[in-house]
Amino acid sequence: MRGTYSGALEEEILESIELDVTTGVVPVEFSVLVSIGSVLESLTLPIVTEISTVLVSVHGPDRPGITAGLMDVLNESAAAIYDVEQIVVRGRLTLNVLVGVSGERVTIRDVLFFGWTQNLHVDFEVVEEAPTQTDSLSVVTLIGATVGPDDFGAIANAIAAGGGNIERIFRLSRYPVVSYELAVSGGQMDAIRAGLVDAVTNRPVDVAIQPDGFERRARRVVVMDVDSTLIENEVINLLADEAGVGDEVARITEAAMRGDIDFEQSLRRRVSLLAGLDESAITLVADRITLTKGARTFVRTLKRLGLVTAIVSAGFTRFADALAADLGIDYSLSNTLEIENGRLTGGLTGEIVDGPAKARFLTSVAEAEDVPLSQVVAVGDGANDLDMLAAAGLGIAFNSKPIVEEKADTAISVPFLDAILFLMGIRREHVDAADEADPTFQQDPLSDVPGTPPV
Ligand SMILES: [Mg+2]
Repeated sequence: MRGTYSGALEEEILESIELDVTTGVVPVEFSVLVSIGSVLESLTLPIVTEISTVLVSVHGPDRPGITAGLMDVLNESAAAIYDVEQIVVRGRLTLNVLVGVSGERVTIRDVLFFGWTQNLHVDFEVVEEAPTQTDSLSVVTLIGATVGPDDFGAIANAIAAGGGNIERIFRLSRYPVVSYELAVSGGQMDAIRAGLVDAVTNRPVDVAIQPDGFERRARRVVVMDVDSTLIENEVINLLADEAGVGDEVARITEAAMRGDIDFEQSLRRRVSLLAGLDESAITLVADRITLTKGARTFVRTLKRLGLVTAIVSAGFTRFADALAADLGIDYSLSNTLEIENGRLTGGLTGEIVDGPAKARFLTSVAEAEDVPLSQVVAVGDGANDLDMLAAAGLGIAFNSKPIVEEKADTAISVPFLDAILFLMGIRREHVDAADEADPTFQQDPLSDVPGTPPV
């Protein structure tokens, strides 16, 4: 049975409602849009005594007390609550309550009367009693400077084509990017992922799919690459500029990050080109480093959530350790430039931090913190980050080279490090509320993102 609008029955409803009005006051105008139909026709039938499962949907302008009022009504008619979902968008309420009722016509009439007095639209439907079977759950996150209906439609199609069903959608952020989280049930995650990747090719949106399990809520450690991830620069290129070998080094860096050449060899070659550079160049270069947009927000929020943070870099200790101290990052590992008599020798001391070393570092941080790798997030952009992205429970390619994007669990192409918070299911409102509650917090200027709707 399902309620549908039927004006011809207004009088009958009013009559039935009047029966219940003990105050004797009946509003002059029947303004509420009630969706009624066959169930209401049953008002003339004997009271149903067996228990029915009824989905009640209430829509209308929101104000305090609606949920409380509806619950009062349900309580009065001894209805049982099986499920509740509510959302408010631009001051409009949608409240769904799944109830078990005996003598449904009484409950429904009371609920309709409540809707009428509150100027709310009420729908109801008698549904099957067995709970919907819960299939495997996954979460799809959608991120972009703007997300248009066409983008949203393509993603919804890909989910449907993979056998998934969207159960819930909510917005995680409006800035610096728009992001939505879609709870999906059923389907094959790999098939859905493949469809999603196809769907967003040539669209300015990122999409990620993850299993929606306990682990997603229990990320404990975040390990980040530094150059072109935490900071916008490649420090070795800046040093090379100071040494007058910028072009040559930049070419080798580019090839190394694409994964075209052996990483350790390329690093040693580049560092050797810096031989003779005065140590004072390190200070000059440190001043030229620019944090990636959203980096401070990202790290500050992770720390507030109690997560351990780490950076690992094929760059150099003098820069990485200073960044770690500035941002309050817990662990830092990078290469050490050899310096003699105030000049770079062109060599490195200690073990080289290459791809495998990054993965070993990630594992050692997880072990030191007693956290399983499934609860570790890794973020990086280069081919030398692939090992650690693979070792982590969630490996995120950040504005990365194609080889990294193909192999990572997920990829972000918007230039904001804090967009990773949305992949982790954290809402912008909560990030901002934590900032507002912190007396020591100083707002970074908001980044202007073309196309982003007003905050
Ligand atoms: Mg990098």
